[in-house]
Amino acid sequence: MPSENSSRLQNSVGSAPTAAIITLGCKVNQYESEAIAERLVALGFDVLSPADACDVYIINTCTVTAEADRKSRQMIRRARSLNPGAAVIVCGCYAQGSPLEVAKIDGVAFVSGSGDKLRVADAALEIVKNGIPSSPVVSAEAPPTTYEPMEISHAPKTRAFVKICDGCDGRCAYCIIPSVRGPVRSRRISDITDEVTRLVAGGCLEVVLTGIETASFGRDTGEKFIDLLRAVDNVPGIRRIRLGSLDPSIMRPHFIEAIAGLQHLCPHFHLSVQSGCSKTLAAMRRRYTAEMVEEAAAALRAAIPRVMLTADVITGFPGETDADFEETLAFMHRMRFLSAHVFAFSARHGTPAATMECQIPPAVRRERSSKLISLQRAITDDVIAEYIAAYPKDEILLESAGGQLSGHTPNFIETVIKQTDSTQSLVSGRIYDVLFTGCQNGVAYAEVI
Ligand code: SF4
Repeated sequence: MPSENSSRLQNSVGSAPTAAIITLGCKVNQYESEAIAERLVALGFDVLSPADACDVYIINTCTVTAEADRKSRQMIRRARSLNPGAAVIVCGCYAQGSPLEVAKIDGVAFVSGSGDKLRVADAALEIVKNGIPSSPVVSAEAPPTTYEPMEISHAPKTRAFVKICDGCDGRCAYCIIPSVRGPVRSRRISDITDEVTRLVAGGCLEVVLTGIETASFGRDTGEKFIDLLRAVDNVPGIRRIRLGSLDPSIMRPHFIEAIAGLQHLCPHFHLSVQSGCSKTLAAMRRRYTAEMVEEAAAALRAAIPRVMLTADVITGFPGETDADFEETLAFMHRMRFLSAHVFAFSARHGTPAATMECQIPPAVRRERSSKLISLQRAITDDVIAEYIAAYPKDEILLESAGGQLSGHTPNFIETVIKQTDSTQSLVSGRIYDVLFTGCQNGVAYAEVI
């Protein structure tokens, strides 16, 4: 039954109804939000910025940590405050794991999960036509087991995220994601290359191939990850291919040899390393040791010129002693990552790690995080300084024009461009040759040549 808010929504029919999407979490969520946005447009919506007063707000949530849950709830509440008459629709991993909790938040009209995401656009249209239901509709069934077909035609920014697979078959002790995203489901290679071809034809120069566990691509279909990379590498006009976060165990000699032969694959790999202590990695149920990561890094550096590595690291996993943490610090010194995302361990209800003995006090987890972040900052500055001394010239894909001009090199060094009269004509989304002039605080500085 329509509520008192329905008249407000129906006022906007006649002109196009308006919607905004707020996205939390990973690159897969960002891809899915873009697909939802394109579906909204196909249904007749104007898709605006979340800062605009819209008829409908869609919040695409994340649940990877307790902090992600908190931010998801905060964004759901904030959407209502942007326009108190708007309908709020919630989907994504947090909604999949806690649908009833989401439905209790004031103003939520529709709750969907991590599967069948495009239906939130249909729900938005339904609400615009018929009004906000008097009580929230909850439509988050069991986690999806089949691949939901969706596609995008436009790169939302300068680089486009392209989803290649969903779900995860891993059972890492700390991770809640398999229980909300379901098992590995891969797209077909032909489907992905068609999408990349469309994006490149629309002017996109860089695609990021991404999945929940990117390296699991093809496990369910029999197609090979390396065949996908070769196929995308052959798309006419593609300039840069980047990969989403990778399990380090994929970096075996034959794979490294194969990717070293690709023309457009960026020499940058983000490895979900998680710890530099093999004992902790075993407790996490990761499928590699710290030594294997070091060997893979050495092989990548030997095979691929200018390669840079970045990493995710968790501090304070249950049972991580001071000595284990010191091992991780020493590992980070040796690995010389370009950057690292450091997370304090967050116990997720329903995972083995949440009930393990020897939980580390939250203050210690945070203290270890701060220590690791400080160390990595110093390493980052060092790595960039060494790189620009060895390679004074590079190219960047310009990501922001107008105010500050900046972009990334192929190996993912963030680079700020010195503004001059001639830089006023630079165009975001294009690639420019640059000469480095210095670096500071994790950023390189350069001028266009
Ligand atoms: S590989 Fe492990 S950490 Fe990654 S999504 Fe799967 S279970 Fe989670």
